[in-house]
Amino acid sequence: MTTAQSCTETSTDSQFVQDFMGSVTARNPHQPEFLQAVHEIVSSLEGVMDRRPKYVAGNILHRIVEPERAFQFRVPWVNDTGDVEVNRGYRVEFNSAIGPYKGGLRFHPSVNLSILKFLGFEQVFKNSLTTLPMGGGKGGADFNPKGKSDGEVMRFCQSFMSELFRHIGPDTDIPAGDIGVGGREIGYMFGEYKKLTNTFVGVLTGRGIEWGGSLIRPEATGYGVVYFGAEMYATKGETFEGKTCLVSGSGNVAQYTVEKVTELGGKAVTLSDSSGWIYDGDGIDADKLAWVMDLKNNRRGRIGEYVEQFPNAEFHARDDSLDHNPLWAVPANCAFPSATQNEINGVDAKNLLAGGVDLVSEGANMPSTIDAQQAFIDAGILYGPAKAANAGGVAVSGLEMSQASQRLFWTRDQVDAKLQQIMCDIHTQCIGASKEFGCEGNYVDGSNIAGFVKVAEAMMAQGIV
Ligand code: NDP
Repeated sequence: MTTAQSCTETSTDSQFVQDFMGSVTARNPHQPEFLQAVHEIVSSLEGVMDRRPKYVAGNILHRIVEPERAFQFRVPWVNDTGDVEVNRGYRVEFNSAIGPYKGGLRFHPSVNLSILKFLGFEQVFKNSLTTLPMGGGKGGADFNPKGKSDGEVMRFCQSFMSELFRHIGPDTDIPAGDIGVGGREIGYMFGEYKKLTNTFVGVLTGRGIEWGGSLIRPEATGYGVVYFGAEMYATKGETFEGKTCLVSGSGNVAQYTVEKVTELGGKAVTLSDSSGWIYDGDGIDADKLAWVMDLKNNRRGRIGEYVEQFPNAEFHARDDSLDHNPLWAVPANCAFPSATQNEINGVDAKNLLAGGVDLVSEGANMPSTIDAQQAFIDAGILYGPAKAANAGGVAVSGLEMSQASQRLFWTRDQVDAKLQQIMCDIHTQCIGASKEFGCEGNYVDGSNIAGFVKVAEAMMAQGIV
């Protein structure tokens, strides 16, 4: 998979964007992912700043790109052979204007402050779009869970939480999962938090059903991405019935994207992990998906094993010498990037368009480089950016918080109905904002503007804090 770094400036940047990015870049050198995320938002906001001069007077843009708090800590732990290992933990508490900080924890060797600031910044606007009262944050560690025993993962999670617990709480900051953090890791961290504080509270979401979790939380991001795609298709009178779909990744988001799109009549033909990708022209049906879920969630194997089980499929090893990812060159109707940031570059975007893709709904955070985003917008396809399309996960986390605080437990159908309604509302907000600001049909501008205005209004109301 190519994870080409996009530059943060484009030849079409206005003077407003160039001036703002100049000052943000000077303050945040060496943080390319964060600058890319800021660039995307700010590029959508010139019209808003023109029409609402109070935001300019309140210097709201410079305030909003500065995290309220960010910290880094040592995470020492003992591996199975008795050696002491040390990782670096982080939490970025980005913005609490509309609610307590909320956002996932990522455990991956690539984790650094730039990546967590980009994710935390995106989370602020995504959470605003959900209509639920949640601020934005993100955290994690440069720990690689791959190949580690359960005991090692548990000791790491306990050490991580032995520092993080001081900073979080059900009314302060409520982390969840992300790459490398699923039900197992949330369980170990919750256990340690409970022991250290002697409280059983909703401090982490993504908990097991038996200990305060919500039905549909594991499914929520993937299902939401497909619901958002269905809303986009509905504007053209189309559905997923009979559509061929490309999905990358094979973790939480990818799995439930495949499940929902298959239920709605689509045919998913690809999956991937960091070792390569598989193509199954017959489609990854419910039985094959169940096998993948067992492979990834229980046996913790590699996606290449798929072709041993289903010999009609092909496996292609990752080839870093290419300037593109051949997964995105498979002819198809729809694409659901569900692995990681910058996994679709400009070449991939051209290949997707040439292969017939007319809908992209982003499961991963910022999976498309600036070039790729521009290619989708220029082509006029239905392009649902991550902060709108993948907001279903945090939305159901918000519903998990509501259930926990009221000691309630909603049924699967109740939560799924609320999730569908929230995705529909997010779609409506994107369309409404894009119409109001003269960029109708552009979901990037629509989501950025709608997410921003609510947070900016709350910040203005709360004074200079
Ligand atoms: P998982 O850890 O469950 O799965 C991640 C998948 O992506 C794995 O197949 C992994 O392969 C692959 N992957 C990760 N990093 C890379 C890389 N650098 N190169 C190639 N493949 C990679 O994570 P999730 O499914 O939870 O998250 C996937 C994306 O969705 C992320 O961008 C995350 O931020 C976003 N997201 C997740 C939400 C959630 O609720 N979980 C909510 C909103 C967004 P391998 O195992 O080989 O590393």
